[in-house]
Amino acid sequence: MLIIGIDPAFSQKEVFRSKDTVKEIITLSQKIDTIQQRHYKFSNTGLLFSCEFAGGRINNVTQKNDSVFTVLSSAENYPINPSPWYAFYIVSDRSRKLLIELNYTNSKHRYYPKISKDGKNWQPVDSALVEYIQPGKDKFGTGSMPASAKVTLNLNKDDTVWIAAQEVISSKNVYEWIDDLPGNKKINKGIAGYSTFGKEIRYFTIGKIKKNKPSVVIISRQHPPEVTGYFAMQQFVDVLLSNRKQSRKYRRKFVTYVVPLMNPDGADYGHWRHNAGGIDLNRDWLQQNQPEIQQVNHLIDSSTKANNSNVLFFIDFHSTWDDIFYTNTPTKKSNLPGLMDAMLLEMEKELQQGALNIKPSEKNESYVSKGYFYNFYNAESVTYEVGDNTSREIIDRKGRVAAQSFLKTLFKLYK
Ligand SMILES: [Zn+2]
Repeated sequence: MLIIGIDPAFSQKEVFRSKDTVKEIITLSQKIDTIQQRHYKFSNTGLLFSCEFAGGRINNVTQKNDSVFTVLSSAENYPINPSPWYAFYIVSDRSRKLLIELNYTNSKHRYYPKISKDGKNWQPVDSALVEYIQPGKDKFGTGSMPASAKVTLNLNKDDTVWIAAQEVISSKNVYEWIDDLPGNKKINKGIAGYSTFGKEIRYFTIGKIKKNKPSVVIISRQHPPEVTGYFAMQQFVDVLLSNRKQSRKYRRKFVTYVVPLMNPDGADYGHWRHNAGGIDLNRDWLQQNQPEIQQVNHLIDSSTKANNSNVLFFIDFHSTWDDIFYTNTPTKKSNLPGLMDAMLLEMEKELQQGALNIKPSEKNESYVSKGYFYNFYNAESVTYEVGDNTSREIIDRKGRVAAQSFLKTLFKLYK
């Protein structure tokens, strides 16, 4: 059900559910500001700014003088978590030095700017070219956010240069990744449903679906800017698809459902966090007012019930300031007790980088995915948070080690 523009006073009210004693925010759809992904032309200086591409977001560009411009990004709606996204490209008709100030409506600066020459391959902007305005006091978290950031660009004539908060990964990019998976014969592709803007919510299964065969569920990008979580998810999946003996055995014994992009509208329209219903999807698992959550849950629920399949493990990939594992506090016997703890222990041993940052939830709230899969599917569940700035090589390695540790532990515990 889609309700646009409901009374905000009503939406702020909290409800109590018999299943959960915790308060939750109603997740009925809110009105969002749909972005105009368009050009901003400055003919007087021969410059073009544009966010006319999937994942692009700027809400205004203002010229201070010939070489200083301010780019503004606003969220799809407020209130919202501080993950201000921006993505645009610049074309210049002459060689020049340009200073761009990144500003946000009701937010400070978070994401270290990335640069690309083709919109596909990205790297962090040289640190000598980035200056923070009113830097935050803390080393970590929202207290570390500067008011804004200035980026100096040295442009050549007719160059197109992309600047973005993180690597831009649109729904098209994600679906191309699915189509190009090396183990394409090992997977079955499907569509769980459609987003509010009519985009496909694609999924695939690894290993054939069979009666009584247990299940594993992997999701990522409920929150659009969280591409570092997506990178770790890709590596995790890659291990499950490998030709190594353990992975082959895994595919014979278990079926895996993968939904790599939970929020295609948010990803393609450069949302900071919400879907087209203006809702944080990872608050909607219990109420299920949003199409993405309804349809993905329906897929898992109907398929596992029809096949008498227990969901043993659920992993949801996100990004935040640092690498963190959010787990549940065991309050009952899950479908495979101890899997989560043993897997993280194994991972810690394998990585040899000291203790992993593991934070068990106190209340196992069902409105977030990991609580929902624990409470309703009885699955060992985890939210795997990957740092925004964790080196991409380390992300890849950890994603692979996570999958290897999962397989090793699963075979040890599942008889
Ligand atoms: Zn997240």
